[in-house]
Amino acid sequence: MFMSLSDTEPLPGTIQSSIASNILRVAVPTPLRKLFDYLPPENYSLELLPGQRVQIPFGATEQIGVIVEVTQESDHPFEKLKRVNVVLDIIPLFSKTLLELIHWASSYYQSSLGEVFDAAIPGWLRKGKNPEVLLKTSETAFLQKKKALVQEAQAQREKALVLNPEQHYAVHSVTQTIGGFQTFLLDGVTGSGKTEVYCQIIEQALQKSQQVLILVPEIGLTPQIVARLKARFNCPIAVLHSLLTEKQRFKAWLQAKEGLAPIVVGTRSAVFTPLKNPGVFIVDEEHDTSFKQQDGFRYSARDLIIRRGQLEQCPVVLGTATPSLETLLNVQLKRYQHLKLPVRAGNAELPTIQILDIRHKKLDEGLSAQLIHNIQEHLKDGNQVLLFLNRRGFSPVFMCFDCGWVKQCLRCDAKMTLHYRPKRLQCHHCEATCFIPKHCPACDAKNLNPLGVGTERLEAALQKHFANYKIVRLDRDTTRKKGALKEALETVQLGKADILLGTQMIAKGHHFPNVTLVAILDIDSALFSVDFRSMERMGQLITQVAGRAGRAEKSGHVILQTCHPEHYLIKTLLKKGFDSFAAEILNERKSASLPPYSYHILIRADAKKSDRALNFLNEVKKEANKLNKSNIQILGPTPAPMERRIGYYRAQLLFQSHQRGRLQRFMQQLVSEIGSHSLSRTVRWSMDVDPMDMY
Ligand code: ADP
Ligand code: ZN
Ligand code: ZN
Repeated sequence: MFMSLSDTEPLPGTIQSSIASNILRVAVPTPLRKLFDYLPPENYSLELLPGQRVQIPFGATEQIGVIVEVTQESDHPFEKLKRVNVVLDIIPLFSKTLLELIHWASSYYQSSLGEVFDAAIPGWLRKGKNPEVLLKTSETAFLQKKKALVQEAQAQREKALVLNPEQHYAVHSVTQTIGGFQTFLLDGVTGSGKTEVYCQIIEQALQKSQQVLILVPEIGLTPQIVARLKARFNCPIAVLHSLLTEKQRFKAWLQAKEGLAPIVVGTRSAVFTPLKNPGVFIVDEEHDTSFKQQDGFRYSARDLIIRRGQLEQCPVVLGTATPSLETLLNVQLKRYQHLKLPVRAGNAELPTIQILDIRHKKLDEGLSAQLIHNIQEHLKDGNQVLLFLNRRGFSPVFMCFDCGWVKQCLRCDAKMTLHYRPKRLQCHHCEATCFIPKHCPACDAKNLNPLGVGTERLEAALQKHFANYKIVRLDRDTTRKKGALKEALETVQLGKADILLGTQMIAKGHHFPNVTLVAILDIDSALFSVDFRSMERMGQLITQVAGRAGRAEKSGHVILQTCHPEHYLIKTLLKKGFDSFAAEILNERKSASLPPYSYHILIRADAKKSDRALNFLNEVKKEANKLNKSNIQILGPTPAPMERRIGYYRAQLLFQSHQRGRLQRFMQQLVSEIGSHSLSRTVRWSMDVDPMDMY
């Protein structure tokens, strides 16, 4: 089906007579927002359709593009058009609806179609590799075997649980809409049995011979969901994420496309995976910001899958214990149906949360005496303790206490973090490293000291206080090696570790049945962030981390160290729970006219010379002011909160409006103006629709 054709091969399929005069409009993976016209290969007589890959001459090189339109017209003289070298697919890679989604994404996120296809097509196919190699011999056998498997395999392995009434209502609401479109928020506290609800929805979709696509934030951090699906369903599960080889990824993609895998689990880019019989779409941890692509084609997989559900007439389930404000507003506006699981399933109770005021307290490497005592108590009872500190390395600042010198990154407006294992100073923005000086480079004093606590330092302190206990640290530094994360998680789950400490990695979805104490060491920086989303993130993070405690028979306790015990939002979060907390910040957003009550599009620019980016954005603003007839608010330009990064000076210009459609149309006009502006060639610039951060 994906055979490549040279023009000498015999050609199966439909023959068209008028093909000779066809002009193919091809999307090429460049940021240029235009299509390129080509003629079919000489004597090519098969039907050509949107969604087929073609190999084309492009400048001095060859490129793989995708046919977007087959037409009879071109703005260029016919004689000047080049021919496609090879047509790579006989059958389009995408269905009409998926092509519609791709078009929609390109227009909504104002990216070129070529860039969207680039995200949507597996690397193996993007490189023009010839899939027939895979499909021939052994692979054909592989696919046939799988086919047989699917038929016999819909029987389950693990037994379904008896649902509580809320779970039952959730499953029922979703499954009765199969065949139509509706978005659901499955809003269940951690441990309330959301995964069980997914499983029973999947079961019903499988019975109807439909496929279920599940998006997860990061496969490495949510290994459990795949394990649980495997334990439950005796059928092929296609898993798509970036840690696979291109060949593995392509195989999974093909299984999904051919309907051989009834269950498809993947990260962000899996939103474009073709499905033969789409039934239900699920987004687990819908609030997670990793569903938003942060460079190139900047899309939100969560938002796109809802659009896809609408196009393919499938229900979409957004599951989380801490809904995003965007989703909560959509619930208020009755666009989404709210399914609530208010209690933990089984016998588990929600943990108690205590604020530990650390003002005027002496901290030992970030630990208060009270906390050390509490950890001791829990460990004595044979339980596990989890400590959360969202800062890796030994200490975030390395300072001379004689003259105040600190080690700055040469390329970023950032201080370098001290690491001891291995020994280095490292910039966490550009990854540049340097050796640790013995004398102060400014005053030559030998008085250089670490300032502040990172996970490495916390681990050292814990080793001192709890020498007889096994401690596991989880952060980007300890999990670089392949398999290290899995191993560490297993050590904790099997009860072979007593203390687990780490960054936000430990907050995500893991099930640690023996953890009874969770301590959150430093949240205060979030209270003063310039980012208007930081409070939302903090509330989600605290709730998620706290949710790791007491998930089984043992009850859980959470301690929050802070210098701001009186902060009204912290109090709301702890006393009234995440719902009230979210309602409160949603109100604040409303009074401030911030998203989700308004829409943002951000233009970012950067350049090696200072002021260039700002100058460019000032020009953009002038153009924008000329075009602006619909009260679009234009804010800035301003230097980015951290202006210099990896040697580039960065600036941004923000557009805000209460009407999404107006803002979209306005930006479309503006972009074509910017593209032709001479200054646009002096900077790198990009556009971010619905930006998730302002950096
Ligand atoms: P969530 O995904 O919301 O965090 P899970 O689906 O992981 O929650 O469920 C938490 C625990 O509760 C699991 O051990 C699960 O087996 C159990 N559980 C879920 N639903 C039920 C139920 N209806 N009856 C008994 N136990 C349940
Ligand atoms: Zn000094
Ligand atoms: Zn740097």
